Amino acid sequence: MIAEIIINRSAKKLNRTFDYNIPQELEELVMIGSTVLVPFGKTAKGKEANLEEGYVVNIKEKTTYEVKDIVQIKHNLTESQIELAKWMANRYFCNVSDCIKQMLTPGTKGKQENNKVQDKKIQVVYLKKEIEEIEFEISENIIKSEKQKKILQFLKNNEGATVPEIEMFTSGTRAIVKTLEKNGYIEIVEKKVERNPLENKNLEKTENLKLTQEQQNTFDQITNKMEIKQYEEFLIHGVTGSGKTEIYLQLIGKALDQNKTAIVLVPEISLTPQMIDRFISRFNKEEIAVLHSKLSIGERYDEWNKIKAGNAKIVIGARSAIFAPLENIGVIIIDEEHDSSYKSEAVPKYDAKEIAKKIAKENNCPLVLGSATPDLNTYYKAKQGNIKLLELTKRANNSDLPTVQIVDLKTELANGNRSMLSIALHNAIEKNLEEKRQTILFLNRRGFSTFIMCRECGYTVKCKNCNISLTYHQYENKLKCHYCGYEQNVVTVCPECHSTKIRYFGTGTQRLEQEINKVFPNATTIRMDKDTVTKKNSHEDILNKFRDENIDILIGTQMIVKGHHFPNVTLVGVVAADSSLNIDDYRANERTFQILTQVAGRAGREKIKGQVIIQTYNPDNFAIQCAKNQDYKEFYETEIALRQQLMYPPFKDIILINFNGLLENEIKKVSLEVYKYLMENLNLDEFKVMKPMPSPIDRIQNHIRWRMIVKGNMTADANQVFNNCLKLIYDKNYKNTRVTIDVNPNSMM
Ligand code: ADP
Ligand code: ZN
Ligand code: ZN
Repeated sequence: MIAEIIINRSAKKLNRTFDYNIPQELEELVMIGSTVLVPFGKTAKGKEANLEEGYVVNIKEKTTYEVKDIVQIKHNLTESQIELAKWMANRYFCNVSDCIKQMLTPGTKGKQENNKVQDKKIQVVYLKKEIEEIEFEISENIIKSEKQKKILQFLKNNEGATVPEIEMFTSGTRAIVKTLEKNGYIEIVEKKVERNPLENKNLEKTENLKLTQEQQNTFDQITNKMEIKQYEEFLIHGVTGSGKTEIYLQLIGKALDQNKTAIVLVPEISLTPQMIDRFISRFNKEEIAVLHSKLSIGERYDEWNKIKAGNAKIVIGARSAIFAPLENIGVIIIDEEHDSSYKSEAVPKYDAKEIAKKIAKENNCPLVLGSATPDLNTYYKAKQGNIKLLELTKRANNSDLPTVQIVDLKTELANGNRSMLSIALHNAIEKNLEEKRQTILFLNRRGFSTFIMCRECGYTVKCKNCNISLTYHQYENKLKCHYCGYEQNVVTVCPECHSTKIRYFGTGTQRLEQEINKVFPNATTIRMDKDTVTKKNSHEDILNKFRDENIDILIGTQMIVKGHHFPNVTLVGVVAADSSLNIDDYRANERTFQILTQVAGRAGREKIKGQVIIQTYNPDNFAIQCAKNQDYKEFYETEIALRQQLMYPPFKDIILINFNGLLENEIKKVSLEVYKYLMENLNLDEFKVMKPMPSPIDRIQNHIRWRMIVKGNMTADANQVFNNCLKLIYDKNYKNTRVTIDVNPNSMM
């Protein structure tokens, strides 16, 4: 028999099959989905061929080529997983091998990692020399190897990373890490890892709650489908606290009763111990597997095998958990379905909701999406009748929704209040402090100020790698790039005109905390943003501290808005609601509405009614108004009309083609070729093809970035045109330019 094999390499040219003979002794074992080792590439006389890893995607009787033997078999996927991988490669414009990798047991993807994860120890890497010394050696070219430099730079921000992590993020190898160790730059420390993330959990069991009328109706409609083993897609639209999670728990219970399994996807940041506890306390913890990126590779390996062996019946995880090797699925649940993290921004750029739909169909089971602020596209499909809409309009424990007040910052300014806190918010904080209740202040910008400008000539300080404004961080007294991590000293004299009139504009969380400490010197504060959240100090630690030590005020970015439950928080202040309105993205309104609604949902979840104060320069904006009234439907009607008028999703897809490389001339050439091809091959009545041009952020880490936008419906035919176009470009072998296509990407930058 002959196997068609895809080689596990990301080179675009290798996205095709090669024929190999299945030797007799392997005939019983090799099947579609097997990972095998095969000799590959040209070999010098007398030398053995290189062995490469490959995936069997088809098996046939004969071939017209002269073929070599498969040497060894490593492990097996199922035929339907291979089908899914092929479908993904086509849909998301990537190699089949990129997709297969998502489905393999963690820790067995790369060659080097094999077996290493099984000894329950990991090697973590720390810098041994002082950072300044290393930086000096890099800038003076004492360290010459680019890969060594990359690893050291990575470690600067990620001390305690494991060797596989270093390999993954820097494209350096174990050998280079060893060289750095030998030369005294780093040390490698062996650490025993705790392998079972649930090991120490002993929680009191909880029983099913008696469902409210609305919950019961929702539950019944979904379980009806489970009973007759039929696929259907549901959207549970329920206000925060309406008891969606309780429904998920009972749906899972139903699946287990049917002797089936269940998958629950949750945004990475909501996957907190608190959240997981709710599942453990209802079910048998031996039956639960948890998958997320904070687990060590060894833990993920264990969890994956627990699922594969059939021991785990419930999988809870972030986006990639949709690829868990779970069989006999009775229900798939996607919580906070509007969350952008369900769409992968790395290759393969897949959408977990689409994958979930395929898997649910194959298992003849319902797919349940849940949110308080559904993705506009999802709600549109529900309105069109393609998804069954189930609504929960009341909070399950009968607590009231908070009152929301909007403060116009223009009026504050006119009244001479130049501080970051309006009178209303100031007074509310003061009152809350007196009553010994907690407050959350939300500001979606970290750092101290957003940009620095010379008032004489208008010069702004930008990152030399990325060409975007640097942010001032007061504590370190440094200017930092939020894209690449580059930092430099503050500027006191303008490099252009030598004026000393350097001004700091905009407000970040650091500055807000400083101001709060000044205005309320007796209040305790804690700040949560990318700068305070580190490996040692996780965002979970910060939130626990806030809750357990009853700290008065939590100041934070986006990170604070997700699914946490703080019984004593009665006041939420949104310091500047406009930061998400002013982004250059067609979803600006939607993001603003979602964030404000979610933030507001943090206030007063218990007996005391919560209060929310939103400060804004755009008090009349409909997204802000609808968030104030907690009126999703009104928001939807207004926004969907805008989308239709401007032909944005869900009416047309936005296809973003990125060109990324070191040589501007080659990028121009390649992008024009793509432009020309699409103009000639797409139906121009249906598609609008925009000319290629530099991206809004036209450089990241010295890579030049161009982009091209196409608007139209990504039908199967169109998909083929784009795939053909890519193939044409790959075949020309441009060495310095990377072309990627992303349909409806999270970020247009
Ligand atoms: P959501 O997931 O929609 O935010 P939860 O499931 O977390 O809502 O429920 C909010 C609160 O209401 C929780 O404290 C939960 O225990 C409680 N709750 C949910 N359903 C019921 C019910 N049927 N009866 C009583 N309390 C409930
Ligand atoms: Zn100047
Ligand atoms: Zn940068």
